[in-house]
Amino acid sequence: MRKKLFIPGPTEVKSEVLEKMANPLISHRGKEASDLQRGISQKLQKLMYTHNEILLSTSSGSGLMEGAVRSCTRQRAAIFTCGAFGERWYEMAVANQVNADRFNVEYGQAITSEMVEQALKSGNYDLITITHNETSTGVMNPIEEIAKVVQKYPDVIFCVDTVSSLGGIKIPVDELGIDICITSSQKCLGLPPGISLCSISEKALLAAKEVKHRGVYFDLLRLYEYLVKKDYQYPSTPSLSHMFALDYQLDLILEEGLENRFQRHQIMADKVREWAKDNFSLFAEEKFASNTVTCVKNTNGFNFKKLNQRLAEKGFMISGGYGKLKDKTFRIAHMGDMTVQEVEELLTTIDEIMEQEG
Ligand SMILES: *Cc1c(COP(=O)(O)O)cnc(C)c1O
Repeated sequence: MRKKLFIPGPTEVKSEVLEKMANPLISHRGKEASDLQRGISQKLQKLMYTHNEILLSTSSGSGLMEGAVRSCTRQRAAIFTCGAFGERWYEMAVANQVNADRFNVEYGQAITSEMVEQALKSGNYDLITITHNETSTGVMNPIEEIAKVVQKYPDVIFCVDTVSSLGGIKIPVDELGIDICITSSQKCLGLPPGISLCSISEKALLAAKEVKHRGVYFDLLRLYEYLVKKDYQYPSTPSLSHMFALDYQLDLILEEGLENRFQRHQIMADKVREWAKDNFSLFAEEKFASNTVTCVKNTNGFNFKKLNQRLAEKGFMISGGYGKLKDKTFRIAHMGDMTVQEVEELLTTIDEIMEQEG
C-alpha cells in the first residue's frame, strides 16, 4: 500500500510535478537549458525575497552546506548547533580543514542572539552558520533576532540552512542579510530528492575569492562564475529532469500565493502541536517550535514502532526520532504540499489506533 509521507523529507510530490521528471531531455548546453535555469532563478528569487543570484547543485542540500563553509571561510567559522544538522555542518568544516569552532545549545533549545553576539564580538570569525529549522529537534531558531546581530558585523558571511523551512516559512533573505541561503528539493518545496539550491551574495563571492582551496565540484565561486559567463548554464551536467519539475512546482507555489502557503504551514503546525500537547509533550521549547515539523517527546514510553506499523496499514507514515533522539521522540512533518485536511486525517487515525491499542 502506498503510504502518505508525513516524514521530514522526502515529502509528498504531486503527481503532475512527478510527471515533469519524465519530460524528454534537452541539451545542457543549449538555449533551452539557459532559459530553464533563468526562469527557475527568477522564481526562486521571489520565494527567497532576494536579488542575489541563485545556484543549483545536483546533490542534496548537504553538498551546498559543505560547499559554503569550504568556499567562503577565510579565517575561521563559528558553527552554531542545536541538533544533528548543525553538528553535520561542524563535521564538514573539520573534514575540509576549515578552522571552526562549535557553539552548542542543549537539544530542544534554540540558538540565541546573545550567543551569536558573544561569539562574533571576539572578532575571531568571518563566517557563521545557523540551522534555521533544526529538523532533528523541531526547533525553529529566532532568525530575525540573530540576523540583527550578524548585521552589526559586515565582514562576517552569514550562512543559513533553510533545508526544512524554505517554501513553508517566510525567509526574507535580503532583509535578513543572509549571504548564503541553502535549501533542498525534497522538503518544503515538495519535489523529489536530488537537487539543492542556494542564493549567494556579492559579499560571499568576494570572500570566496580570498580562499585558496575551495575544492572543485562544490566551489560556489566556480559555479557562479560559470553561470554568469555561460548564460545560466553549469560547469557539469545538472539534473535537468529535476529542473523541469522544479520550474513547474515553483509556478504552482507562486500560484498558491506565498502568504497563503506560509499561513497553511502555520495552521498545520498549530493543529499538530495542540494534538502533541494533549497526548504527549513537545520536545522543543514551545516558543521555538517549528512550523514544518513537530518533534514529540515520547513521554508515555509508548510503542512508536507499532504505531507506525499500524499507520502503514492505513496508508500513512510518520518518522521516528533522529540520531541520539531516536527512542526518545518521534516526529510528524507538516510541510510542502500537505493540506490541513490531510493533517487532520492523520491525527484522527493516530487517535483511533491509540484507542484500540489502549
Ligand atoms: C534534511 C536536512 C539536511 C540535509 O539535507 P539533504 O538534502 O538530505 O542533504 C540539512 N539540514 C536540515 C535542517 C535538514 O532538515
